Amino acid sequence: MLHRIDLGETDRIVTLFTREHGRISAVAKGSRRPTSRLSGATEPFTVARLLMATGKSLDVISQCEVRETFPTLRGDFETLMCATYLCDLTACILSEERAAQPVLYDELLSALYLVQLHPERTDLIMRAYEMKSLAALGYEPALDRCALCGLKLNGQGTDYYSPSVGGVLCEKDRSQSSDRIRLNDEVKQAIALMLCTELHDLLSHPIQPAIISQVKRALTPTLYGRLDRLPRSREFLDSLQMKREKGIPASQPHTGARSFPAEF
Ligand SMILES: [Zn+2]
Repeated sequence: MLHRIDLGETDRIVTLFTREHGRISAVAKGSRRPTSRLSGATEPFTVARLLMATGKSLDVISQCEVRETFPTLRGDFETLMCATYLCDLTACILSEERAAQPVLYDELLSALYLVQLHPERTDLIMRAYEMKSLAALGYEPALDRCALCGLKLNGQGTDYYSPSVGGVLCEKDRSQSSDRIRLNDEVKQAIALMLCTELHDLLSHPIQPAIISQVKRALTPTLYGRLDRLPRSREFLDSLQMKREKGIPASQPHTGARSFPAEF
């Protein structure tokens, strides 16, 4: 379950990510009643087997069998927000105008398990999931050829990366790019590792926080360019990180963490 909004007095509309059909919206009737059989299945992050009935405009969930609830994701506010962001980002990627990306189903599950097990590595997990999301959309950052003209660079002259274009640039094209940034070998190696290594294996690599920050600096505008917008939960996480770096204590929304964000 990626996302939910209230409908009427007791119902919800839920955004589901299914392995077979990608993103689906469905109505969970009565799921806001604590005694409802659907209550648990419509909690954020929950993995469930669902039986759906065809409705007038949206399908209706008729039966559910909860498989995983990721309970410890809710124990810490920043971990909760990280998991929320992963789900919101997935919902953006799977939005209606894009083809379903079933490959991301397993990646998202893996990311949620890892955030639960290793909350101290959430920055690496988020960056790697973003990278894999770009790759699933066919926008894998180009590191061995010019992202504009396609010239093969063979490791030579690959120091300049354009976040808006999403790859390194040859000498001719870099002079015309206004947003090029310089990537050192460690950052390029980290990007390559994130692209080609399974998430759970990635955690065994000692990628330093400073390198992950540089990957984020390169990757964020690329994501913006491909998705047009980033989820509100990402902006919230960035503000939390900024406060942490400045030593300001993070404050939680008064409405309760589970209800944030209402939109993505
Ligand atoms: Zn070029």
